[in-house]
Amino acid sequence: MQLKQQRGQLIILSGPSGAGKGTVCQAAMAHSSSLKISISATTRAPRGEEKDGVEYFFLDEAEFEKKIEEGAFLEYAKVHDHYYGTPKAHVLQMLDEGMNVILEIDVQGAAQIKEKLGFGILIFIAPPSIEVLKERLVNRQTDSDAQIQLRMKNAMSELKQATQYDYVIVNNTVDQAVADLEAIIRAEQCRSQNNLEIIEEMLM
Ligand code: 5GP
Repeated sequence: MQLKQQRGQLIILSGPSGAGKGTVCQAAMAHSSSLKISISATTRAPRGEEKDGVEYFFLDEAEFEKKIEEGAFLEYAKVHDHYYGTPKAHVLQMLDEGMNVILEIDVQGAAQIKEKLGFGILIFIAPPSIEVLKERLVNRQTDSDAQIQLRMKNAMSELKQATQYDYVIVNNTVDQAVADLEAIIRAEQCRSQNNLEIIEEMLM
């Protein structure tokens, strides 16, 4: 008997800058070919070596606002004065193909997904402590003292939003955080509602 392809899981990852979302995503994707990350669109300028279509799709404000009107985003938000949004068509296509898709988005975007879509696993990546978060931001050597102060201030308000999430992963070590992420995805795949069709077929 040919089993029907299960729809992929939509995984929404948020957390303060420096919590290690990017590192955890990259490590998890290296483990699993069915895990994909969605590339967002943004109106902020590329940083350093960033390339259009790789880290982000870089748009100007008029282009972004046109896409909002066309309903091209699953969610969008203004973060630090720039638009960021998740392209809808590609994400839905990957889910239909059975891929598990990660959205690495801010807390406003996660709230929109929760309210509008009715599906998706909300995961908050937290640092093990405030001291470790600060240490990571300092060690990255990408931000000025003022930027670090601002990111720490933003981190405190983001941490307050963790209660809105289905899961919290404390990123003590990357390996442990990836194992936690994989365990969550696996458990969600085994939820009864995702497998009832198979049971119903057996009962026919
Ligand atoms: P950065 O400019 O440092 O790459 O990202 C700034 C913030 O924007 C991060 O918190 C990141 O998670 C968030 N972000 C990136 N893409 C999206 C998106 O498509 N939607 C929303 N709501 N936030 C996003």
